[in-house]
Amino acid sequence: MADLHLQSLTDLANGLNAGDFSAVELADILLGRIEASGETLNAFITVTAEQARSAAKAADAARAAGSAGPLCGLPIVHKDIFCTRDVLTTCGSRMLENFVSPYDATVVDRLNAAGAVVLGKTNMDEFAMGSSNETSYFGDVKNPWNLECTPGGSSGGSAAAVAARLAPAATGTDTGGSIRQPASLTGTVGLKPTYGRVSRYGMIAFASSLDQAGVITRTAADAALLLGAMAGFDERDSTCIDHPVPDYTASLDQSLKGLRVGIVRQHFDEGLDEGTGKQVREALAVLEAQGAILTEVDLPHIDYSVPTYYVVAPAECSSNLSRFDGVRFGHRVDDAEDLFDLYCRSRGEGFGEEVKRRIMTGTYVLSAGYYDAYYLKAQQVRQLIADDFRKAFADVDVIAGPTAPTPAFKLGDKTDDPITMYLNDIYTIGANLAGLPGISTPCGFVDGLPVGLHLVGPHWGEETILRCAHQYQMQTDWHAACPEDFR
Ligand code: GLN
Repeated sequence: MADLHLQSLTDLANGLNAGDFSAVELADILLGRIEASGETLNAFITVTAEQARSAAKAADAARAAGSAGPLCGLPIVHKDIFCTRDVLTTCGSRMLENFVSPYDATVVDRLNAAGAVVLGKTNMDEFAMGSSNETSYFGDVKNPWNLECTPGGSSGGSAAAVAARLAPAATGTDTGGSIRQPASLTGTVGLKPTYGRVSRYGMIAFASSLDQAGVITRTAADAALLLGAMAGFDERDSTCIDHPVPDYTASLDQSLKGLRVGIVRQHFDEGLDEGTGKQVREALAVLEAQGAILTEVDLPHIDYSVPTYYVVAPAECSSNLSRFDGVRFGHRVDDAEDLFDLYCRSRGEGFGEEVKRRIMTGTYVLSAGYYDAYYLKAQQVRQLIADDFRKAFADVDVIAGPTAPTPAFKLGDKTDDPITMYLNDIYTIGANLAGLPGISTPCGFVDGLPVGLHLVGPHWGEETILRCAHQYQMQTDWHAACPEDFR
């Protein structure tokens, strides 16, 4: 039982079913690891040890009674953007420092119903705005591969927890890359589903037309298992689409023979770190050796994806975050002179610098006189980008390339330069603008730090990208590598 923390969800499920260990024993081992690494990694904002033990007990009882759900007794951690009943939900912000949600997000609810055991809530960039977890009010998260480096963001705590074997799986959210980029920087698997595949109900909104819930795991098979439990229509989210949920695990074993893989030239241009590019090219060669057919595809407007995103996302965030006014929600100053003073100072104190920068940009691009020049223009370019992908997917099944331009960078290295920070998502943002599913899977190391292969599919193409990632993992063992101090 010594190495349960190293096992995948799928292996743990088999072990639980075989009676090799109990859900309580498993939860105890992981809670012990979370506690031991608490200060080193800062991956958690809240640890729910007591609730986890009672959920694990209930899972063991359900299994004994023959009524085990598909995830019965399997441990998971949630990004602190998902509302969890009776548990603190901060979204990484001082604004919600004391917020205890009266209800569960649909994602949390469905995973609970399937029998998952929640160990805690993970650290994140404030309101999911960031690429390094450095905008969190609760402090930086450290990368388990090198404690001087960032784990990426905004789902940095989730990625660090999974990489350090504190939990086999975590939820995350991805608005521009926040699941896939931290997965790349920590050597984990990050899946962002099609927009509308998973309910956003109870997931604190950043940019509603881009936000999507997904998972960070160590294998593609585990991501498939979790997606099956999370996905599906929810009448409480008007953007959640009523589309059948397939058995994502069923098609994983199909070979890649004949799979058409598109390569985008711009994704290998200057800006891509040399070592990362080399690892990604080698990964493409592995896919080719398995029978995939590599072809070049053209996304003529993809170079505009980052500037387009940084108009659309701030615009939506300025609207979404207006609810945090110290009256209806959030941090409130206690000595306000009048209502205006209350609003100004509560928001001034409650939000951090990056969030304020986005709110100001967003308010500006939405204001009369600038709306047409910026917001409307950005929406038009977004449509062109989506059309480019649609045309490309007439000829290919998957688009492959690097997930992030570099491996993990040093904490503090990019904090003074927002534009350089924003470029972390240069390869991932396109999928959000077009609503497409994407996955990052580990494909090697550069100077001891992991890098990821990014696979994007057409709408509802989760099965294809999961299968492609799984087949790649059958040929390689990058995803199984564990940082030395966390074995
Ligand atoms: N890094 C991007 C940003 O700062 C994306 C964040 C996300 O996907 N939530 O907005």
